[in-house]
Amino acid sequence: MTPIYMDYAAATPLDPKVKKLMETFFSKDYFNPSANYLAARNVRRKLEQARADVANCLGAKPTEIIFTAGATEANNLAIQGIMRAFPAGEILVSTIEHESVLEPAKLFNYRLIPVLKDGMIDVSELKRMISDKTVLVSIGLVNNEIGAIQPINQISDMLNRLSNLRISTRLPLYLHSDAAQAPSYLDVHVSRLGADLVSLNGGKIYGPKQSGVLYIKTGTELQPVTLGGGQEFEKRSGTENVPGDIGLSAALQLAQKHRKKEASRLSRLRELFIRELTEKLPRAIVNGPNKYVSPHILSVSFPNYDNERLMMQLDEAGIQVATGSACSASSRKSSYVLAAIGLSDDLARSTLRFSLGKYTKEKDILQVVNALKRFTTVS
Ligand code: PLP
Repeated sequence: MTPIYMDYAAATPLDPKVKKLMETFFSKDYFNPSANYLAARNVRRKLEQARADVANCLGAKPTEIIFTAGATEANNLAIQGIMRAFPAGEILVSTIEHESVLEPAKLFNYRLIPVLKDGMIDVSELKRMISDKTVLVSIGLVNNEIGAIQPINQISDMLNRLSNLRISTRLPLYLHSDAAQAPSYLDVHVSRLGADLVSLNGGKIYGPKQSGVLYIKTGTELQPVTLGGGQEFEKRSGTENVPGDIGLSAALQLAQKHRKKEASRLSRLRELFIRELTEKLPRAIVNGPNKYVSPHILSVSFPNYDNERLMMQLDEAGIQVATGSACSASSRKSSYVLAAIGLSDDLARSTLRFSLGKYTKEKDILQVVNALKRFTTVS
């Protein structure tokens, strides 16, 4: 029996088309793109085409695209890179950011932006928090635990207006958005988002793991974090991961091409999931926003049931789900994201994250809800 996989927010299977494109760069076209002989220059040409294709998906210039080893590195480069360039400044990050945003932010002067009960940023509160010292605001586009979609373009407009009014400071006011969970369902065009820095992740969009991108708008002052041979426009040294970068580029193009259709298909499945839960497990509580929510993430609390136990029972029944984000699951700490939206520790420890994707079918939803009903009615 093939398992029912509902943890696409943690990892997605590599798309076979992407895999095929990558293959040649492992042992045939393995050359270092910085070498000068013809074969290496051909590899460089393909890498630069991949960069141009990423830029095209984002409505950016190729020189604004920095390939990284995943979203963790992209987030670190964005935050440490900007904050090291402006050591007197402060950074504001939302309380529900991924650890790869929160942990680097804690190295600097930082404050946390609260979220409302549904996980949405309180934009007027953020406006009040901006000071003359604020150089960077970092807010993820799609939250990986509850799926909240933040109004990045509205936040960007507000920051631009405030920035124009700031006369007592010479500091810039940049906006960074971690969009790792977004490209399969949302528009990630940078001018429409209005962000100065955007992080992406190949491993969440049916591309290879340890592949990522940081978009850095021209003119943004940022210090490199990894020093060395000066690759990636002096912003991220190290021999390029050619198969990974080419794989990410192909995966991003596919994600953006199919995103509207896939978003409406998954929205229907997510709605079915909620309807089934309401009917069969009326005590279950769906967390996160009603409206501005990514179609692939569903966070549900099952009061009085331990999420670890439920997760293991589901696993035994061939259903793979998460108790929270994959990174914090191993630590057994209860989720700070769920705490930020007001869930008690007990309720947070009764919460599962279901994340849907390319191979999720209607029958999978029905089977999962039936299994949940079994495990929450038998003591
Ligand atoms: N940002 C978000 C929103 C994520 O969901 C993840 C992974 O779960 C990351 C960043 C980090 O990605 P990676 O561990 O692949 O670098």
